[in-house]
Amino acid sequence: MKRVTALILAIVVTITLFGCSQGSPQQINDLRNTTDGSLSFSDSGNSKESDSPDNDSNNSGTLGSSGSDSSSDESSNDSSDNLSDNPSDNPSVNPKGTLKVHFIDVGQADSILIQMPDNKSMLIDAGNNNDGDDVVSYIKSQGISKIDILVGTHPHEDHIGGMDTVIKSLDVGKVYMPKVSHNTKTFEDVLLAVKSKGLKVSTAQAGVVLDAGSSVKAEMLAPNGNSYKSLNNYSAVIKITFGNTSFLFTGDAEKESEIEMLEKGYNLKSTVLKVGHHGSTTSTSSEFLKAVAPVYAVISSGAGNDYGHPHQEILSRLAQANIKIYRTDESGTIIASSDGSTVSFDKAASSVKVEASPETKKQKAESPAETKTRENPPEEKTQLSSSSNNTERNTKTVYITKSGSKYHKDGCRYLSKSKIPISLSEALERNYTPCSVCGGS
Ligand SMILES: [Zn+2]
Ligand SMILES: [Zn+2]
Repeated sequence: MKRVTALILAIVVTITLFGCSQGSPQQINDLRNTTDGSLSFSDSGNSKESDSPDNDSNNSGTLGSSGSDSSSDESSNDSSDNLSDNPSDNPSVNPKGTLKVHFIDVGQADSILIQMPDNKSMLIDAGNNNDGDDVVSYIKSQGISKIDILVGTHPHEDHIGGMDTVIKSLDVGKVYMPKVSHNTKTFEDVLLAVKSKGLKVSTAQAGVVLDAGSSVKAEMLAPNGNSYKSLNNYSAVIKITFGNTSFLFTGDAEKESEIEMLEKGYNLKSTVLKVGHHGSTTSTSSEFLKAVAPVYAVISSGAGNDYGHPHQEILSRLAQANIKIYRTDESGTIIASSDGSTVSFDKAASSVKVEASPETKKQKAESPAETKTRENPPEEKTQLSSSSNNTERNTKTVYITKSGSKYHKDGCRYLSKSKIPISLSEALERNYTPCSVCGGS
């Protein structure tokens, strides 16, 4: 215990050299213990994992590093696995079974339980400190006694608070956390629980492939960097693909991380988006949302929380893109199930009227390229359940492709065999633009 505190204090002292304010996140100063392996962040030990190509540069950029031991250690593990530009382009052909995702109601916090089709289970975050017992009972109520993969997206209390209880109460396979420390008792408790179970913390970072069974593809798309001002940007972002459906879990990743994921060229397109940072305006930037283009969005937040999450601007952005919104603050625990071709929810989508915020209006004005493609100016008021406004746009059918950003008219030579019919209105709202050859209509 004392040794742990001393270690963490040492890190804090080191990071003050970099002029960061109290509580600022910093790279963890290689907590790997060379003698007894007690407190550790391990990048090795599982051949299923592949480090990102940027692994070496990540390590060399480690702040406060007192030596190069970690990079030499890890470079040996640097496989030739190249995280492809579109790491999710290879969903299993014949999906069998059900992927079940439980967005557990933990108030103003995150905790997501995922039951893989092959019966493996993953827990992403575990709510606040007080939520640990509830999360454990919920998991047990689902007949689960082992969490194969436990991810603490980033060290904020509303994500890792209950993790120590989960680790102590359940059988746990692998633990993943980003390589950053946080000088709190909550963080220390998690590390101590990990140690007491004889486990190690594997580094959560872009390029890690998780062993979640052969029916799914589970991979990390962030963090892509190793030095952020906001602890939220260290958030592990996980994409799970099952058949033709996919889920993107973003933790509290903010715009900075979203841009990095876009720049990396990852295939972000997902059926369901766990909206970043409880629906705060720090996250879910228009560009990111356009790339993810989800059909459904789930927001985990607490009713009447101090931060005003989810922010109106984000709700409007989602609503205007015709994305169905599910909120734990309204519905409690939400369960999404996928059979590999469709995703269904056990709760009704949010039916709150959404009004465009001033910021949204301003952004529209500032992006003429986007508004130019719209036949009609977008309505300022959007009601989620309403789909009968503007009949022409709603009934006119255009065609999109799985990966393209343009819409086409039927018969366009740029349209691939796997054309997807969609209403013009939906195409516009999902930010598709007309094909330059056929004009789209
Ligand atoms: Zn959070
Ligand atoms: Zn956070």
